[in-house]
Amino acid sequence: MAMQLAEGVALEGYVSSKEGDVASLREMYTSYLLEEYGRIGELAFGSPVAGYLVTSFIRRDGENAGYVSLDHGRCSVELIYVCPEHRGQGLAKLVLEELNRICPQTLALKTPLSPGGEALAAELGLERADNYPHETAKNEESLRIIREGIKRTCQHKSRGRRGGDPRKLCQRCYQSALRRYANAVIDKFS
Ligand SMILES: [Zn+2]
Repeated sequence: MAMQLAEGVALEGYVSSKEGDVASLREMYTSYLLEEYGRIGELAFGSPVAGYLVTSFIRRDGENAGYVSLDHGRCSVELIYVCPEHRGQGLAKLVLEELNRICPQTLALKTPLSPGGEALAAELGLERADNYPHETAKNEESLRIIREGIKRTCQHKSRGRRGGDPRKLCQRCYQSALRRYANAVIDKFS
């Protein structure tokens, strides 16, 4: 089902039995993780798809321009992502405004927020939703598994460090681990 937001812009439900949907979400979630890794240097939290989430593509002129995953029970946005080539056109704002309008209470954005998320929350008067303890525990467990895996298996001589900081994990291995993690998350619900 699709929901028209503006001329040429719609939300369309993610269908986990459609190969094209799975491939598209996989690609965008992988990009999200790699971009966030570039910004924060770690695994970014937030699921694109899960049992408690409703996931939709943000469609622009018939093509997937991003996605949003919504926790209806908490009226909170778990993740919203717009592809780089579709940024700067207010797509995220349009989507959040509409979700805020249809939710019975003020829409919240799941923390931690990116700088763009912070700006939109302030502009639209949205709430912030912190993770539940079990979600935090799950996030920390994923992070621990990724970090331990990289430490155990990295064979790269330089170990990919920038600036020689011995606490930093190998970048190449971290990026590979994020790709595998994205596949596992998407495959679990397809
Ligand atoms: Zn490595």
